[in-house]
Amino acid sequence: MKFEQYNISSLIKQSLEELGFRKPTDIQFKAIPSILKGDDVLGIAQTGTGKTAAFAIPILHLLMRRSHHNKYNQVKCLVMVPTRELAMQIAQVFKDLGKYTDLTILGLVGGVDQAPQIKKLDKGVDILIATPGRMFDLVSQKHIDLSRVDVLVLDEADHMLDLGFIKDIRDVLRYLPSRHQTLFFSATIDEKIKDLAYSIVRNPIRIQISPKDPVSKNVTHSVAHVAMDDKRFFLERLIKEFEGQKILVFVRTKVRAERVFAAMQRVGIETLTMHGDKEQADRLKVMNDFKMGKVNVLIATDVSARGIDIQGVDYVVNYDLPDVPENYVHRVGRTGRGVLKGKAISFCSPEELPVLEAIQAYIGKPVSVMTIDKTEYLETITFTEETPNDNWQKMLDEDEQEMGQKRKKKKK
Ligand code: ADP
Ligand code: MG
Repeated sequence: MKFEQYNISSLIKQSLEELGFRKPTDIQFKAIPSILKGDDVLGIAQTGTGKTAAFAIPILHLLMRRSHHNKYNQVKCLVMVPTRELAMQIAQVFKDLGKYTDLTILGLVGGVDQAPQIKKLDKGVDILIATPGRMFDLVSQKHIDLSRVDVLVLDEADHMLDLGFIKDIRDVLRYLPSRHQTLFFSATIDEKIKDLAYSIVRNPIRIQISPKDPVSKNVTHSVAHVAMDDKRFFLERLIKEFEGQKILVFVRTKVRAERVFAAMQRVGIETLTMHGDKEQADRLKVMNDFKMGKVNVLIATDVSARGIDIQGVDYVVNYDLPDVPENYVHRVGRTGRGVLKGKAISFCSPEELPVLEAIQAYIGKPVSVMTIDKTEYLETITFTEETPNDNWQKMLDEDEQEMGQKRKKKKK
């Protein structure tokens, strides 16, 4: 079935055509009719399969048809997401798809001046895509009225219902009218979170595509066993061998992001870093430079693990394995999006073996091992253009010790 044949507004069809979206993806095919009917939907599908449009298309259609005699600044659809970059990205998808409608759409995030946001809100916003912090500020300042929300969307739903965000979600629910439609979307969901999701809605329809392996079928992923101290040499070699390709490197902490950045700089490789300690203006610039290919290597923490849709990321490198197993699925899912194929490689040091085991248990199968023979290994650690520097070594050793201690503590 093609979008042409859908019973949705021709104004949306026109933008779908311009975006080159001819046929719905599986999750879109299954979710759109249920959402149009008014059902609460829990939609689970692999990374990069078009979950955003799966909710944006029917929401735009529903809101276009509903009469607009709401008072100003009464939001009709609220989309809650975990990160600022994701809020802006989803707002852009709504804007692209809703280009010919007269619905107003706003991505609302913290870290930037609130005056322009207030100006837009006071003019009236139909669809608000927000991270919790700034939104609650503006709700309490009465610039946002959530009492007429028809549709609530939790994207990256398992994360939004997890410890860090659940209180925010419960708070939001207090502002919403008792009758509203709720949509949950994610690539990963566990039983506990599913029960929680079901407990806050009336009659949810569960739509799940490819339940067994949560890792995108477009991603070839493997693990290389590498000593903690040698990781930087392997990264250096990989970047130099794949020059010109877009590489997204994930590390465990903000501090490590800056250290790996410095290590690459020392061997003449230009990279960007992305983490929660950066100013919002820098974060925007970094994402843009990486998107536009100004710099082809981005070193990021898990702040970029979920939802981010950057065209043509060729490689995901897990420089450190993620502490949370589901983030493995999300990180490697930053490549292989839409019809594109992608590759992911994880560097696993001996001290990270328990983490690798947890990941394998989570995805239900072993990650294939990239065998590196001794010669190749030695070649890689001597391939470096780095000049010996004791300070640097000391820093990495400290970091490793700290990591070891953390793990030990966890085990207790
Ligand atoms: P997910 O949320 O499932 O990870 P996204 O919604 O970010 O995936 O979409 C992934 C990519 O697929 C985006 O670049 C988007 O433009 C593209 N896409 C979505 N739906 C379609 C479609 N029906 N046809 C072609 N491309 C699509
Ligand atoms: Mg998504």
